[in-house]
Amino acid sequence: TSKFNRLEREAPDPIVQTMTLYANDPSPNKVDVSIGVYKSEKGGSYLFPCVAEAKKVLAANDPGHNYTNMQGIPEFISGARKVAFGEEYAAEGKLASLQTISGTGALHMGFVFLREAGYTNFYLGVPSWSNYIGMIEFIGSKVTTFTHYNEKTKKIEFDAVVSALESAPANSVFLFQTCCHNPTGADYSQEQWKKIGQLLKQRDLIAVLDTAYQGFSSGDKDKDAWAIRHFYELGLEFVVCQSFSKNLGLYGERVGCVHAVVQDKEYVPNAQSTLVANFRSECSFAPAYGARLASIIFQSPELKQVWDNDVAEITERLKTIRKKVLDILTELKTPGKWDHVVEQEGLFWYSGLTPVQNDRLISEHNVYSTSIGRVNIAGLNNNNVEYFCKAIDEVVR
Ligand code: PMP
Repeated sequence: TSKFNRLEREAPDPIVQTMTLYANDPSPNKVDVSIGVYKSEKGGSYLFPCVAEAKKVLAANDPGHNYTNMQGIPEFISGARKVAFGEEYAAEGKLASLQTISGTGALHMGFVFLREAGYTNFYLGVPSWSNYIGMIEFIGSKVTTFTHYNEKTKKIEFDAVVSALESAPANSVFLFQTCCHNPTGADYSQEQWKKIGQLLKQRDLIAVLDTAYQGFSSGDKDKDAWAIRHFYELGLEFVVCQSFSKNLGLYGERVGCVHAVVQDKEYVPNAQSTLVANFRSECSFAPAYGARLASIIFQSPELKQVWDNDVAEITERLKTIRKKVLDILTELKTPGKWDHVVEQEGLFWYSGLTPVQNDRLISEHNVYSTSIGRVNIAGLNNNNVEYFCKAIDEVVR
């Protein structure tokens, strides 16, 4: 036996299991549409041209390896604020911000910050990103779920969202994704965000806005930040959790930031010092390399322009593939309604295929989707989209 005999064997994340199956599949036709990573038309992982340039700039100006700053790299923090809130609001002094271990770290530090401020009662629309509930419960906070998405209509179940906001006790925390909803691709319209904002205010609730795919919905990062800026204008106090994994392609570098919006400026130093003190106890310092690359892009008008173009092009490619999937399924007369593939936004298509159909995609067609039917649209390209659609056609007949 062992001193650790009380520990259980935890199951690996289902998506990691799918990735392993894919890696071990010798078929030349295999298609990976599982994990949420952007891939280029050529099928490989994608190096953003702005990042390639920033790497050269950094190599030519080696900053060395000393400890950075406990709040994070200052140029990174100020740039990240502008990306989320826009130049004007970022300069108003109402933000407390901390560089984090990517988006997951931003969420974690956000949840810990809220717990410290006295808020532990979370509401979450489902289905949602699979990690949220575990992360909230891990720090001892509580989650109540409501319906975000109607599997039949393949649209947001907005009545359920409103009734959750109307019935939650004051000071509850609502966790929303700003754009490119994972896994459904079903985002709120501006009208819906307005209603949500109004209810948050009226009912004295707090929002956490998770923004992990900013830009991939409209192709324009500012437009995709609409909800953040609208809530700011409403005078709400809320938390924004920002990831640059997807929109800078810096998955392994762990580049993220958490921001608390504090409308009464007198309390900004309290919020700021709390974020830093909590991080000191958990990690001390966030990793420097990726944040330095991001800072170089944030500070250079030329590289920022290249980044804007990169994001616009990626979004265009995602939309083109979605259209292609719909065209091919229509041509094949695949039973069912498939318009949701072009209606949904961002990286993910929530196909609506059953777990059995998703298993058959793998076992009979070497197409690796996820058991919940979330398809990473970026895993498709001109070489495999027809094969993918024929596989779908076959498993639904
Ligand atoms: N939020 C959502 C909705 C996500 O999909 C992800 C990544 N899958 C994250 C946050 C966190 O990503 P990371 O920690 O890799 O930045």
